[in-house]
Amino acid sequence: MRGAEMNELRLFREDGLRIDGRRVDELRPVKMEVGVLDKSDGSAYIEMGKTKIFAAVFGPKEAHPRHLSQPHRAILNCRYHMATFSVEERKHPGMTRREIELSKVIKESLESLVFLNEYPRSAIDVYIEVVQADAGTRTAGLTAASLALADAGIQMNDLCCGVAVGKVGGRIVLDPSEEEDKHGEADMPIAIAPRQNSIVLLQLNGRMTREEMRLGIEMARKGIEVLYSVQIAALTKRVRSSHQGGSGRY
Ligand code: ADP
Repeated sequence: MRGAEMNELRLFREDGLRIDGRRVDELRPVKMEVGVLDKSDGSAYIEMGKTKIFAAVFGPKEAHPRHLSQPHRAILNCRYHMATFSVEERKHPGMTRREIELSKVIKESLESLVFLNEYPRSAIDVYIEVVQADAGTRTAGLTAASLALADAGIQMNDLCCGVAVGKVGGRIVLDPSEEEDKHGEADMPIAIAPRQNSIVLLQLNGRMTREEMRLGIEMARKGIEVLYSVQIAALTKRVRSSHQGGSGRY
């Protein structure tokens, strides 16, 4: 049996739905909350299916060491990290090459959103902590980080929302789970600044035809419309609760 046929049997049910019961263009259940941590200037929490992530922002503050500061803009530092207990086999607590790469990719996406020129000689630190990983962590982390930046009151031209599309058993699917990702032929994380309608992150691991990529981006755009409405609802809830003196912090 060929790989694609095996995947088709394993990852799709007889009724054509995915093994977790989703349609090909359906997101996993999504939950977002803003202002969940006390010690940082801004924070957010996101769940996409079994993927669970906290994002925390410190700043804008004085840049340290001082020689790294820029006279006309802020520097944005970003650390994406997976907790040792976030995956089935205990992960090494230090930063892996993958985490260093993802930190860089996410930082570059966030830099395109923040008005860095508004904060000369300052630093903005963004921490993304994956507490449970089940695929799609870079895009969910980016979605949460943009909420945490907004919660910190940092001036931005837009939020950003991300989701991956995968090619599984020859079919393009939205928001693959880890099982689908593991057995799939390709994975394409996408993040969009929704109001500007600009793509701030696009990667491709594996192979897709031009037509599959076009379909994948179209699917991601629809998913991102849903994610953006959840983001706005989470921010609105945060603003309302802070006006009422409440806090959704853990
Ligand atoms: P993303 O999380 O953005 O999809 P990858 O495609 O690199 O990034 O990873 C896919 C998934 O593989 C992760 O979300 C996680 O569930 C799993 N994974 C990644 N690194 C590890 C690891 N060191 N140990 C176990 N699972 C991992």
